Amino acid sequence: MTKRTTQDAAKRARQRIAAIRRALADFEFLCSGTLLTRYTTCGKPNCRCHQDPADRHGPYYDWGRMRSGKLSHRWVTAEQAEQLRPAIANYRRLKKLLRDWEIQTERLIDAEHPRQP
Ligand SMILES: [Zn+2]
Repeated sequence: MTKRTTQDAAKRARQRIAAIRRALADFEFLCSGTLLTRYTTCGKPNCRCHQDPADRHGPYYDWGRMRSGKLSHRWVTAEQAEQLRPAIANYRRLKKLLRDWEIQTERLIDAEHPRQP
């Protein structure tokens, strides 16, 4: 890389890192995992849920996430699910930003302190 393109690369990396740091200020709620909407059949043999899959009970909201290396499940209410959904989306966005931050930092290190040939 020429000195000029190296400086440009460093500048771009610094600008991207600054943008990532600004974006971090917008996060409020954060939850890892996935939220699944489930419908079930019950134990009563004559119940409508056994006749038609569209008549199953639910929706129930199942929040699955890793805790201490193990998958954990928790039922949440519809209201909790509503609050959880954007928090999970935030978590995914944040992880993307962190990955990008790491990539930009590596680019910056390479641009500002290149290995000597
Ligand atoms: Zn039923």
